[in-house]
Amino acid sequence: MNKKIKGSNWPQLPEELSNISITPTDARFDAMRSNYFRVGNPRLVIMAVTNSQVSETIKYITAVRKKTGSKVPFSVRSGGHGMTMSSVNDGGIILDISQMNEVTIVDEKSGLVRIQAGALWGDVAKILNPYQLVISSGDFGDTGVGGLATSGGIGLLVRNSGLTIDHIIGASLVTSDGKCHWIDEKHEPDLFWAIRGGSSQVGIVTEFLFKADRLVTQDKNFVSPVVVQNVKYLSKKLETFILKWQKWANSSSRRLSSMLMVTLNENGDYIFEATNIWAGSPNEQSKDIFEKSLKLGRTQNQEQQTMEYADLVKAPHEPHRGQQPVYVKNTLVKNFNAAIIDQIETILKNSFVMGIELRAIGGKLNEIKSEATPWDFREATGFVAMWADKNHARQAQKIFTLADQDGLGVYGAYSSDLSEKENSKVWPKPETRERLKNIMNAIDSEQLFDQGRNLNVKK
Ligand SMILES: Cc1cc2nc3c(=O)[nH]c(=O)nc-3n(C[C@H](O)[C@H](O)[C@H](O)COP(=O)(O)OP(=O)(O)OC[C@H]3O[C@@H](n4cnc5c(N)ncnc54)[C@H](O)[C@@H]3O)c2cc1C
Repeated sequence: MNKKIKGSNWPQLPEELSNISITPTDARFDAMRSNYFRVGNPRLVIMAVTNSQVSETIKYITAVRKKTGSKVPFSVRSGGHGMTMSSVNDGGIILDISQMNEVTIVDEKSGLVRIQAGALWGDVAKILNPYQLVISSGDFGDTGVGGLATSGGIGLLVRNSGLTIDHIIGASLVTSDGKCHWIDEKHEPDLFWAIRGGSSQVGIVTEFLFKADRLVTQDKNFVSPVVVQNVKYLSKKLETFILKWQKWANSSSRRLSSMLMVTLNENGDYIFEATNIWAGSPNEQSKDIFEKSLKLGRTQNQEQQTMEYADLVKAPHEPHRGQQPVYVKNTLVKNFNAAIIDQIETILKNSFVMGIELRAIGGKLNEIKSEATPWDFREATGFVAMWADKNHARQAQKIFTLADQDGLGVYGAYSSDLSEKENSKVWPKPETRERLKNIMNAIDSEQLFDQGRNLNVKK
């Protein structure tokens, strides 16, 4: 039965969408209106489970915009963990594809895996684990495949495996005309290029074909092991510590990836919480690297354990209530140097800054040619992000100027700033911006996908 959307002059919902739609009077609405960062107030949430329903939703929102003559908001939500906070809206439609979450092993030997975009990375890791396969994605299991794999993917095994997008070898994409395309190096290569770091501007990816990695194991007790070392250091000397940590990480085997959370305590001491991850079973080399890490500074405590990669990124499946009150900015850097660390020191003095996160990311990602994907930072070996209180978003924007000065640009999926200025730093190379714009103009001239990062939309 076709359904009318109450209190609106929107066209009737077509039959194919009626049964999968949730309106504000529905008992399920509260559970489906929000993402991790904000409470949404949409008129309609559509829970698609097939490509055809995704296509119908696109046709419907196009009809709504045409009839109302206004840009009724249209958001796409996979895992709902997008730091841009744009996967929900007020007054519009949310297309939720979280139930399109199948993971299929296509060829165990070569590591070919089909993953629907609504899956969560923690669940993907769990399903791949028995096959001894891993895909380095984010550090949190509840993040979705759709948002992360269209933006980059700086995972916990980044130095070993490169970015998540570097493992995509094909995808299903639904474009603004409702058509579903299979895209890869041979079929529509421009679109295939654009979805690997171009964000959500060219359409909705419903499924990816990935080539997963395999971790080295000599231990019968583990299938896909990683060794995780957590160390807490205390120091008054920010620059000395960061430069030592960088040198240690960059000179270690790329099987090591490392991240640091830096905070300042009331005594003026910097607290450095390091998470060091070794890809594979422990061996003499990992032992040596972890011993050296303990000499980087005065340690407060440390622990180390071998575990399955899947357990490291287990998905908690936390319901979304807009519960994360943070505002995040970042930049990629070629190297951390005195000038950058100076700015980090200044930023940390602000009480609304919760902490500064640093990651050592050089390794495999540096080997991919810059023009292979829209991700413009192939020379980066470091990543720095500021976590700030969302209530101080404006101040946070003002104080984090690293990307304007010494940084290479911004990792789009890890920034809450959706401004035009920020977007130009997500794709800082003019040739990348130009190519993306040309593809978008050809495939989405009406700018249907205008809610997330979009080079053609001024915010
Ligand atoms: C706690 C936390 C930890 C994180 N850690 C990491 C990390 O270690 N490494 C890292 O790289 N990132 C990390 N991120 C960032 C995260 O990967 C991105 O914000 C990503 O966009 C989340 O994807 P999602 O599907 O959950 O997001 P959603 O909120 O569902 O979507 C985010 C954006 O992507 C678009 N989008 C979603 N699905 C699709 C699709 N299928 N096709 C096209 N566009 C789509 C949406 O329109 C929206 O604009 C982290 C985020 C959080 C909250």
